[in-house]
Amino acid sequence: MTLDWIQPADRLRSLPPYVFARLDELKARAREQGLDLIDLGMGNPDGPTPSPVIEAAMVAIQDSQNHGYPPFEGTASFREAITRWYHRRYGVSLDPDGEALPLLGSKEGIVHLALAYINPGDTVLVPTPAYPAHFRGPAIAGGNIIDLPLNAENDWLIDLAAIPDIVAERAKVLFFNYPSNPTAATAPREFFEDIVAFARRHEILLVHDLCYAELAFDGYQPTSLLEIPGAKDIGVEFHTLSKTYNMAGWRVGFVVGNRSIIQGLRTLKTNLDYGIFSALQKAAEAALNMPDSYLDGVQTRYRTRRDFLIEGLAELGWTIPKTLATMYLWVPCPPGIGSTDFALSVLEQTGVVLTPGNAFGRGGEGYVRVSLIAECDRLGEAMARLKQANIRYA
Ligand SMILES: *Cc1c(COP(=O)(O)O)cnc(C)c1O
Repeated sequence: MTLDWIQPADRLRSLPPYVFARLDELKARAREQGLDLIDLGMGNPDGPTPSPVIEAAMVAIQDSQNHGYPPFEGTASFREAITRWYHRRYGVSLDPDGEALPLLGSKEGIVHLALAYINPGDTVLVPTPAYPAHFRGPAIAGGNIIDLPLNAENDWLIDLAAIPDIVAERAKVLFFNYPSNPTAATAPREFFEDIVAFARRHEILLVHDLCYAELAFDGYQPTSLLEIPGAKDIGVEFHTLSKTYNMAGWRVGFVVGNRSIIQGLRTLKTNLDYGIFSALQKAAEAALNMPDSYLDGVQTRYRTRRDFLIEGLAELGWTIPKTLATMYLWVPCPPGIGSTDFALSVLEQTGVVLTPGNAFGRGGEGYVRVSLIAECDRLGEAMARLKQANIRYA
């Protein structure tokens, strides 16, 4: 029985339809039929959490000091581990008391930041395509979202000059993400300098999502927003342990940057949650303390898969430029077919799951995202099935 006399709140009903729903249905049906699915649709790393992290968790879980409510702002030792890691990786010094806040995964923090800072009707600038939380968060908050269209011609970079002054003057928050999910685009340091100058000029809160900085290849080192002088006055940056450390299920991320913005997010969160289980904060500390040689191994794994898949796709007619970071390839649909239809048809014909680009907003139409979350033998099997089904870029 549907409860037609109890309607969900407007904020829930106003959310755009969930593109993954039909895909999930088809996936379930294919599994029931015993089809061997190759799921390259998720952003879920396929490897296990590194053993030093698991070992630290097992020790910490036995310590009864970790069994109570954790401190709202996270444990001091995890916050110190965050700021030490940040300094090691980016050369930026941060105060562990107030400039770093642990989160129940960065998605939680991104959406709550939107709730903490966006009033109904506030103008919010969000690129399209984008990671869904970057537009769903502002949508839940009732913000007036202005799309910043990205495309191949501008290398999937935000064109700041194309934002009309009147829009920039009204805007309160801008979300962005390089290296990017879903496009795998990276932004040069000059872009970060420009966007900081733009945000300072127009008094806009800059929210940067740097989830993929450690998954970079070929000597490329992504830029942190906070490396740019003056960025801390107007910006915050989100990080996650989900991707780099194969910890997606543990729910650990953090935000760094402007003290007063982080304080606002913390105030909201003290009314919502108690933060991360203290034993998991110990484990997360162990992750951040692992030597850079661990990161080298992760990077090699994804780079090998990237090269393998780019070559496989080339045999099927696709020219995909070498990505410098992330665990994704952003692949154009063959001419004349839309994202959803292409992803569904690939799934039905081959059992290979791809994410339709329009799941990332209007700007993702015409593309699918392929995740590098299987070993090369499985990726090879996926390519063989596409070839067999005569799915090509032509
Ligand atoms: C995976 C991902 C996240 C979410 O990470 P969690 O910390 O697991 O919530 C955030 N932003 C981007 C761009 C992502 O791809």
